[in-house]
Amino acid sequence: PPAYIQRYNAVQNILTDPVYSGKIRKVVDFGCSQMSFLRYLKNIQEVEEILCVDIDREILEYNKERAEPYLMEYVCCRQTPLVIELCEGSVTHNDQKLKQADAVICIELIEHLYPETLMDLPSNIFEYIMPKVAIVTTPNADFNVLFPNFSGYRHPDHKFEWTRKQFQEWAQDIVARYPSYVVTFHEICKGPAGTEDLGGCSQMAVFHQQSLIEECNKIIGVDGLFKTVARYDYPV
Ligand code: SAM
Repeated sequence: PPAYIQRYNAVQNILTDPVYSGKIRKVVDFGCSQMSFLRYLKNIQEVEEILCVDIDREILEYNKERAEPYLMEYVCCRQTPLVIELCEGSVTHNDQKLKQADAVICIELIEHLYPETLMDLPSNIFEYIMPKVAIVTTPNADFNVLFPNFSGYRHPDHKFEWTRKQFQEWAQDIVARYPSYVVTFHEICKGPAGTEDLGGCSQMAVFHQQSLIEECNKIIGVDGLFKTVARYDYPV
């Protein structure tokens, strides 16, 4: 399958891993863009609340129908409730709506962030939201040598592309600051035989919350930073 499908499968596999079974009720998808990952999220029966957040309001307006229930979903209703909300907002906003999220997903988001935004991301996720699991994917720059006539970045909006070493250092620094988390690294979409030492086309860091922290959030959530673009209550 193409790289993006392998990426979605890799993220879905983490969320449906037996260690998280029965534990992932609310998911936040930061940088959801055209909401392509939503159909994977919707299929996880235990997920009852999905917050899709993107800074680009237009992309949410333009694609919001993709979050609507399909016709068949009115006929074959779900066993469990599901609410999907699309919000204009940033991965750095400590909005009230993020409270109680069990999983946070950032698929190919960080490489689009300016340095100041990237710097503010960890505290929002690991100090404010404190999910059971946070999943971050980004291109693996080590892999770029496999692209013919390649120079610069894979996409004009990328602010950087990190090697595995750079990405792992960034993630290790986060767990050093937030010791209730441990991080594991995964390669996504391997290259042809003989290129194993370059890693995958994408790389994924999974931050697992180890210890349960008492409810003493240092960061207080703020109301109204996120602007709701659409909200869908699925029929049960
Ligand atoms: N996650 C998407 C997927 O799986 O198909 C792809 C992400 S797309 C490459 C990057 C997205 O990040 C864009 O839609 C962009 O508007 C959004 N974005 C950029 N800066 C952001 C920020 N500070 N907070 C939230 N989203 C942001």
